[in-house]
Amino acid sequence: MAKSKEKMNNFIDWATDNRNQLFLLLCLLVHSLYFCVFCILAVEALALINFLSTSFYAFFLFIRKDTSETTMAISYFEILIFSIICNCAVGSDSGFFLYAVGMSASVFYLVPSAGNKRFFYQILGIITAFASEGFVRITGFTLPSVHASMEPYQTTFYLINLAITSGISLAATILYSKRKDNMEEFMRYNMYHDALTGLYNRRFLERQMIQNGDTSKTDYIICLLDIDFFKKVNDTYGHAAGDIVLSKIAEFMKEAIGTDNLAVRWGGEEFILYFPDATIETVQPIMENLRKRVEETVIETANHKINVTITVGVGIGRAGRKYQKVIHIADEKLYYGKKHGRNKVVL
Ligand code: GH3
Ligand code: MG
Ligand code: MG
Repeated sequence: MAKSKEKMNNFIDWATDNRNQLFLLLCLLVHSLYFCVFCILAVEALALINFLSTSFYAFFLFIRKDTSETTMAISYFEILIFSIICNCAVGSDSGFFLYAVGMSASVFYLVPSAGNKRFFYQILGIITAFASEGFVRITGFTLPSVHASMEPYQTTFYLINLAITSGISLAATILYSKRKDNMEEFMRYNMYHDALTGLYNRRFLERQMIQNGDTSKTDYIICLLDIDFFKKVNDTYGHAAGDIVLSKIAEFMKEAIGTDNLAVRWGGEEFILYFPDATIETVQPIMENLRKRVEETVIETANHKINVTITVGVGIGRAGRKYQKVIHIADEKLYYGKKHGRNKVVL
């Protein structure tokens, strides 16, 4: 059960990434199906139209391999024209006008959201459906030879067309909402995380502190951590190597603090470790071990072996004390550590 759900999710992800391709493939399948059906029913004109449409999709899918926005626009117009021609030739009881309705519902998923494009395509689909269906209903227009061949199967055609068009609309809605969910998740993650280290970012800490810090009933600890002579690391080994050092130290910080506390990239090569319910006695050994671990680790990049140290300033947040004030205290301690030899934890 879990496996089939995973498979379905994988398919949805694939379909979301390749939606234009999938759409063209569906069009190809529907037109080739109709090509066969119209050949069997000996409705040559409609068989020919479907043959041309099938060739059109095969050309864009397999020869030009073009799934661009222009191709999608052309295919949308192709479907509207197909819908009008079949509706007028066969008569409305076969439900070919439903393609204009169905496409109008799914086109918003295929067309980029910029400007009023989506709205334009949707309105065009609805107008097409109304115009062709209205024309056929009011005037009773059909191509007599086509209508006669198709009449015994009209209900079957109607149901097949209804199934195809509603199926496509449903699929578009599912894929669209899945893509939107993924995007929201991605944006939420990026809003509160640092891209390089994967740690929480300043925005997240500030939000968290406003929620917890000012009203905290217990003491809390904020450690401000800064890499020593980091500019020199960049200058000597390059910026990319500097990034690897930052990521490695971030990893050490995550491992050091456990799950109840927060590690945050405050900016550049400065980090904050926030212990919401802790005392100086519990935090001091954690920070001392972290400092020692960094000092003793040789960080290996592709071409270099790098050794750095860190200096940490520790601020105690008394219950109710504003977090900005605690960060300021930690910053003063950090400054003191920088002035007095670096590579130390200043309480
Ligand atoms: P100190 O011991 O006094 O802290 O000296 P420092 O050289 O570490 O301090 P300084 O503030 O002069 O330099 C910080 C450097 O951190 C400068 C900046 O280029 C580098 N830096 C900031 N963000 C990044 C980053 O994302 N990647 C890399 N590679 N370097 C960064
Ligand atoms: Mg530094
Ligand atoms: Mg700094």
